[in-house]
Amino acid sequence: MTKQRLVMGNWKMHGSLASNQQLLEQLIAGLGSAHSHSDVVVCAPHPYLAQLQQILTNTAIQWGAQNLSEHTQGAFTGEVSPLMLKDFGCQWVLVGHSERRALYGETDADVLAKTVAALDAGLTPVVCVGETESEQAAGQTQAVILQQLQSILKLETALLSRIVVAYEPVWAIGTGKSATPEQAQAVHAYIRGLLARHHVAAVQVLYGGSVNAGNAADLFAMPDIDGALVGGASLKAADFLSIAAA
Ligand code: PEP
Repeated sequence: MTKQRLVMGNWKMHGSLASNQQLLEQLIAGLGSAHSHSDVVVCAPHPYLAQLQQILTNTAIQWGAQNLSEHTQGAFTGEVSPLMLKDFGCQWVLVGHSERRALYGETDADVLAKTVAALDAGLTPVVCVGETESEQAAGQTQAVILQQLQSILKLETALLSRIVVAYEPVWAIGTGKSATPEQAQAVHAYIRGLLARHHVAAVQVLYGGSVNAGNAADLFAMPDIDGALVGGASLKAADFLSIAAA
């Protein structure tokens, strides 16, 4: 039996009302049979969540955000709370994407706080982890992932079982240089082992980093790869649909 996969698009800071509408209409029209074995989610910039709610309600596509505040409300100018994301129908939120860590200084403590805030609000946090090129070259991949996940792994089982983990090697994001299926599988097996030690073997582990229509099927053939977090290719309907159908 084919296992249900999760294919998530991260639009990053791209889009406009007009281009989003066109993309979403093409995705809705194209999903058809692909949806039977992939759950499909798109994560858009905050201002477009109302548009996603309007267009995607009662379709097969779910939606989410790319970041959230760890606070529910208050004097936090420029921040967006998990309750606001819920107001706009989000079920998902990315947490600790490598661009947030590298460009906006998000620490593992921030990622934990945001993960907990998302869970408290009933959102599914997609916790992103992954090593840089130099860390990989130094053989530190597992150590980096353990460091990034260890405080989250201490959450009580009922909470931990509600997260999704995305393994996104930084050197593969937006570079066109995906991890090979074997490389990704090795790290996914390691992450699966960490989760199993905390009695949450059922957590989905996605791969992200230059996933495209040409490499998705080989990645998905790996036993511990449960789906993909897709950046660039999620902005092109045909490519994203091919990945969802791979
Ligand atoms: C991402 O933004 O999470 C990502 C994986 O990007 P890309 O697919 O473009 O490498």
